[in-house]
Amino acid sequence: MRCNGGNEVAVNLNLPRYTFLVLEVTRLRKNGMPNVATLPDRTSNMFHWENGLKLTIADLAIDFRRRQPRAFVSHAHADHMARHEYALCTPETAALYQLRLGPRATLAMPYRQPIEWGGLRLTTYPAGHCLGSAMLLAEDQGQSLLYTGDFKLRPSATAELAELPHADTLVIESTFGHPNYRLPPRDEVLGEFFSLVRKALADDCVPVIQGYVLGKSQEITRLLTAEGIPVLQQKSIYAVSQVYEQLGCPLGRFERYNGRVEPGWAVIVPPGSPLGHLDRQVKFALTGWAVDRSAKYRLGVDHALPLSDHADYDELIAAIDQVAPKAIYCTHGPESFVDRLLDLGYNAHVLGKRRQERLF
Ligand SMILES: [Zn+2]
Ligand SMILES: [Zn+2]
Repeated sequence: MRCNGGNEVAVNLNLPRYTFLVLEVTRLRKNGMPNVATLPDRTSNMFHWENGLKLTIADLAIDFRRRQPRAFVSHAHADHMARHEYALCTPETAALYQLRLGPRATLAMPYRQPIEWGGLRLTTYPAGHCLGSAMLLAEDQGQSLLYTGDFKLRPSATAELAELPHADTLVIESTFGHPNYRLPPRDEVLGEFFSLVRKALADDCVPVIQGYVLGKSQEITRLLTAEGIPVLQQKSIYAVSQVYEQLGCPLGRFERYNGRVEPGWAVIVPPGSPLGHLDRQVKFALTGWAVDRSAKYRLGVDHALPLSDHADYDELIAAIDQVAPKAIYCTHGPESFVDRLLDLGYNAHVLGKRRQERLF
């Protein structure tokens, strides 16, 4: 764990029975007195860290990238799943998970329908991140824990609006946990995007948009087709889009890209899949990282626009206030987010070890 400004120390807690490792962030006040973040209360006994988050009583792995006997899969992005023996997930995630990793044993958990499983009451709630993305609420004898997975609070054209129930313990994905990451209003970003795409088409250019294979590409497709702009999709994006449509999420007029582009069409490709042979391309990326002015150079595009499937800084704080937890465990984000939460008076911690991984 990185120490920030020399005023933090990390303490590893090894609690018997739970092989429990949570990094407790403590802070020394200016007068030198330690203001130790509240140690895990009973609510924390619902989970432990085993190179990943596990619900202890149910022995249920959460979003593991390594094969597990029983795992909850919050959504079908590569950094949240593996070929598990048995996976709990929403029906939509089950379909997308199996598209990507082949036939697997799954237990479908539609949103807001509690099940009793492994000694816990488990309920999924929409996470607003991509089709089927879910938060998991685990309850046990008056204790509760909410795991957000990747989420956002803003609306999406292709994912149900996020819904956050109250929980005593909140495990929150905090990718954009820095005040630099405050995204402009969605309508403003989309208005700019549509006018740039129309300008490219009017100039006889081909708008080529980078989008992750699952989620962002389908939402961009639906947004463009609703504006009357048909879309060509690279093969792997097209395969996911067909499952979206089978799951009742229509995307409008789109076809598989076969190497030719008729005038008036936009093209969507995964990041890092340039269409080198196409003349007169205008390249776009839509990502939260676009709040950094240098993003378009880093991403190699003409226009980088800040549209994200992850909660921005203000959404993270709003989510925490909605859940009103007694304890917060942050994952995937900058550790400085925990400091900010402590400064704001929240009981916040870093969850387990930071995982170095790509953001999907
Ligand atoms: Zn992720
Ligand atoms: Zn994701």
